Amino acid sequence: MAPMIEVKNVTRRFGGFVAVNDCSLSVEKGSITGLIGPNGAGKSTLFNMVAGNLEPSSGAIFLDGREITGLKPHQLFGRGLLRTFQIAHEFSRLTVLENLMMVPAGQPGENLFDAWFRGRKVREFERGVRERAEEVVDFLQIGHVQNELAGNLSGGQKKLVELGRTMMVDAKVVLLDEIAAGVNRTLLNDLASNIERLNRERGYTFFVIEHDMDLIGRLCDPVVVMAAGSVMMKGSLAEIQADERVVEAYFGG
Ligand code: ADP
Ligand code: MG
Repeated sequence: MAPMIEVKNVTRRFGGFVAVNDCSLSVEKGSITGLIGPNGAGKSTLFNMVAGNLEPSSGAIFLDGREITGLKPHQLFGRGLLRTFQIAHEFSRLTVLENLMMVPAGQPGENLFDAWFRGRKVREFERGVRERAEEVVDFLQIGHVQNELAGNLSGGQKKLVELGRTMMVDAKVVLLDEIAAGVNRTLLNDLASNIERLNRERGYTFFVIEHDMDLIGRLCDPVVVMAAGSVMMKGSLAEIQADERVVEAYFGG
């Protein structure tokens, strides 16, 4: 079975500086794979290339066995690869439900939008989107804030909405970049439970950059360690924490 994501010998240069250096890794289908490493290791640069925000200088990237190197984010969105985005300023004056409903309308996905193109009435399309948004709100248990303006939410609630936006289309794999930062423990727990449920109940694969080791330990297996632009090690968190090179490079010796 092809991995969900496969990165093959990918290099990214910025001028003369090599941020990602001949990097190869895979994210297996159905896994929640963690990506850790010291600051400057190249994690975000790698994510940006997988998500279509940045082109590799060389190498190739595959999604479910098909090459996606150089595809743009909206093309990847149509294939079920999504990354979460902070709620943009202009969306902070929309409610939670409205924020969710913007997703299929704003970025063509496979399902709802195709149905619309097949000639169904716009109203039916909108009703479908609303139903889906309500279903997402139920799933995430954020019904109590569904009519709240997004700008009034706490950091953690915003993260839940960001996760919810990936559920408005049928995502296969979701990239999460440091979701724990600035989120209180209670909401972090909600966020983690929802990630686990999306993984178990909906078959989502996750690829997660995270500094919070508690969250990594709870969610991620395996964990990939990057250092100086390449993969240093891949294994369970326990295996990684027992590796001297990793401890030296990352956990501070
Ligand atoms: P991480 O996310 O692991 O902290 P990054 O991928 O953000 O690492 O950065 C890796 C290296 O690439 C860093 O040294 C960073 O300064 C450099 N870098 C990242 N983006 C750019 C850019 N657009 N231009 C120049 N250098 C960059
Ligand atoms: Mg980063």
